[in-house]
Amino acid sequence: MPTTADDRLIFLDGRTVHTNLPVADLVEQAVQRGEGHLAANGALNVHTGSRSGRSPGDKYLEDTPGIHGNIDWGKVNQPCTPEQFSKLESIVREYLGSCDDLYRFDGFAGADERYRCRVSVVAKEAWHTLFASTLFIPSEGTDPSFAPDWTIFDAGALELSPEQAAAVGVSGKIAIFQSLERKMVLIVGTRYAGEIKKSIFYAMNHDLPDSGVFPMHCSCNVDREDAENVALFFGLSGTGKTTLSADPERALVGDDEHGWSADGVFNVEGGCYAKCIRLSEEGEPEIWNAIRFGSVLENVVLQPNRQPDYDDGSVTENTRVTYPIRFMEGALQPSVAGHPRHVIFLTADATGVLPPISRLTSEQAQYYFVNGYTSKLAGTEAGVTEPVPNFSPCFGGPFMPRPPVFYARMLADRIAEHGTKVWLLNTGWSGGGYGVGSRFPLAHTRAMVHAILDGSLDNVPCQPHPIFGLLTPETVPGVPAELLDPRSTWSDPVAYDQAATALAEKFRTNDAKFNLDDAVRASGPTV
Ligand code: ATP
Ligand code: MN
Repeated sequence: MPTTADDRLIFLDGRTVHTNLPVADLVEQAVQRGEGHLAANGALNVHTGSRSGRSPGDKYLEDTPGIHGNIDWGKVNQPCTPEQFSKLESIVREYLGSCDDLYRFDGFAGADERYRCRVSVVAKEAWHTLFASTLFIPSEGTDPSFAPDWTIFDAGALELSPEQAAAVGVSGKIAIFQSLERKMVLIVGTRYAGEIKKSIFYAMNHDLPDSGVFPMHCSCNVDREDAENVALFFGLSGTGKTTLSADPERALVGDDEHGWSADGVFNVEGGCYAKCIRLSEEGEPEIWNAIRFGSVLENVVLQPNRQPDYDDGSVTENTRVTYPIRFMEGALQPSVAGHPRHVIFLTADATGVLPPISRLTSEQAQYYFVNGYTSKLAGTEAGVTEPVPNFSPCFGGPFMPRPPVFYARMLADRIAEHGTKVWLLNTGWSGGGYGVGSRFPLAHTRAMVHAILDGSLDNVPCQPHPIFGLLTPETVPGVPAELLDPRSTWSDPVAYDQAATALAEKFRTNDAKFNLDDAVRASGPTV
């Protein structure tokens, strides 16, 4: 059966391509083919092999004249030539063309139909298209005339030979090539499904601004009773976007990727991608209950009775689950909301320096957004095993093709237009840095989020931080006051001052990279 008239997919004609199989079929085939196992909670559990996190060092963007001037070229956006791209494409086509069965997902990214794009994922493994149908927005049934905007060729199980690697200009067995002009992604050598998800986010981060939409690495929820009380949670991996947006008092809009248009916010995706490590029913009941048949677990260890052992990080700390957003009780459908009243930046500061909560001026909002400080936590990227201080622009550097200041201006314009309040939460360490202090209790972080969102902090007096100038409320309902001043939680205040100065210096070294307005630069820390 012809698949489509799309040139990029024509080589599939005549092959067995299982397109948009029902979830039960995909799960059954994945199990039969030995791709994974059913867990006792109904989810499919798969192990992804050598890569259990993203591989940013192996990702390349095709450099073409049409996009060259838009891109912030460097370590994140590494160029490959059109020749190298075409070479890898032919390797991938040959490989996929030699597989007996292929799986295909046709669906969408973008809950707002005006800004959505059509996505096809062609994969060797059934579970990769199950992942896509769980995480993106599925279409009903099959449509032989479906013409994708974006095509992902997923050859995760293929490893490049040294000759092939040399021909495409990479040094290892892995290559993830993306072309914004051909609207194509080639995934080779890694079966970690987060690559599928994040390549479409990368595409949206390039394309949406051309339609006047600000693309954001954030989660979003809305008060069940008050549709105008919309909140965004920005943050790098492990800072709490998914965890804190799952809130029984609020309807989930999405846990990771959103666009902010002239009409409000919409989810880019149709599902969530939660961390499972140390997941408990008591701590995160909404996520726990969302894991069931149709969910995909990655790299979780199953006990002999097939119950997931979420405390077991022996495969990776970055164990994951994906589930459709409708598995979250009371999630907003479609995932479209109004303009945000609050924007909350999340940082997991492993130095234990930043206050657990601060209210930001509009200059500080731009400053902290552009710098995108956090500590990289174990697992989400290959090779990271303990927290490392990290600056990642716009709280999503690896997914941002354009320069950080470009996105920061979009944020500043929208905050000013809608009177959005901006906050910074440290969901990381308190009482000392990593190894000395401890991670801020989730219950306290949740109490701070609720205090922000219910307006309790609107008129509370604030104290400025002596070095960072951040304004911290003197009281927050449900949080012991002594925890609000980070210096007083350290047993050695002199050590705190040294750590604070060291962190401030890191900020100053980092902010020198950006062409900031004077007022924005001045809102940073004093060294
Ligand atoms: P990603 O971009 O990789 O999806 P994320 O920002 O969604 O990352 P979460 O999945 O929410 O991050 O991960 C936060 C992790 O930190 C969870 O495992 C959560 O249980 C844990 N955690 C511990 N203490 C806190 C806290 N005070 N606030 C938020 N999360 C916390
Ligand atoms: Mn998340």
